[in-house]
Amino acid sequence: RLVTPVLKGTDESEFEVGLRPVSFDDYIGQDQVKESLKIFVKAALKRGEPLDHVLLYGPPGLGKTTLAYIIARELGVNIKITSGPAIERPGDLAAVLTNLGERDLLFIDEIHRLHPAVEEILYPAMEDFALDIMIGKGPGARSIRLNLRPFTLVGATTRAGALTSPLRDRFGIRCHLDFYKKEDLVRILLRSARILNIVLDEKAAERIAACSRGTPRIANRLLKRIRDYAQVKAEGVITEEVAVEGLKLLKVDSCGLDQDDRRLLETIIEKFGGGPVGIDSLAAALNEEASTIEDIYEPYLIQEGYILRTARGRIASDKAYEHLGIERKRPQSE
Ligand code: ADP
Repeated sequence: RLVTPVLKGTDESEFEVGLRPVSFDDYIGQDQVKESLKIFVKAALKRGEPLDHVLLYGPPGLGKTTLAYIIARELGVNIKITSGPAIERPGDLAAVLTNLGERDLLFIDEIHRLHPAVEEILYPAMEDFALDIMIGKGPGARSIRLNLRPFTLVGATTRAGALTSPLRDRFGIRCHLDFYKKEDLVRILLRSARILNIVLDEKAAERIAACSRGTPRIANRLLKRIRDYAQVKAEGVITEEVAVEGLKLLKVDSCGLDQDDRRLLETIIEKFGGGPVGIDSLAAALNEEASTIEDIYEPYLIQEGYILRTARGRIASDKAYEHLGIERKRPQSE
């Protein structure tokens, strides 16, 4: 579906790589984040020191990986990419860390999913650029310290709240990425169209942007699919009319919600009387992982006010009822 993360090595990931901005100037929107990162990068370069560790947090597809690449490029260092679930044992992380060159950048995606034993290795590495290695077992066991070359860790997470506080505290720079404004998404779409040699009307870009859930990844995916439609039906030109038809075909409604979003809202309303419903019951009813709902579906639905998150669970708002054209049987409870 449109909001799912990309799998490495697929056509989709190659498509994304081709559209990735390569410098801060190329990176559209997120002005505050960009401005502060630019200053920190400049200062680090001036002092000849590695950049302080950076935590990037926000929903998927907003440009965290892209920013990590840009930071590395602006610092003129190599970047090594990995992710929390990919590092299974402390030894795996130790191998990655000892292979980093002076001031290199290590990017760990989904850093909130690091195994606790792996995370512990990271503390001295981040703080003192050192690894504490245990040798032997039992009473004879001792720890030796191995120095690492200074490096910068860039961690990305969809949920800053899921990070342990010792880990969160070790990031000197923390940046929150928010959903993009429509104007920024229009610029992103026009830029992507230029790169892909697609003729895209400004009005068509506005239509697609309005349905992109504030997310560049989704905007680009919609563009790619509507291009296919335009090639078959409209000689490759994406006019406003073509965009509207294409979006209809993709079953994305005018508010940018797709079939799965509507199914989620319908489930809360029809199976749970509009809520409140706990995340686990909702996940079971939808046959999805709770974390998928929390990380991928929900943030936009909450931000747009379709779902309210309360201590007792999720509630479908009046806006959700209106959007689906369902009449509320009893007044909204808080
Ligand atoms: P994340 O790591 O947050 O999931 P990515 O960095 O992989 O997101 O970005 C997804 C896609 O969205 C990238 O391929 C890139 O082309 C596009 N993108 C993200 N942010 C921007 C931006 N600010 N300007 C232009 N394109 C962007």
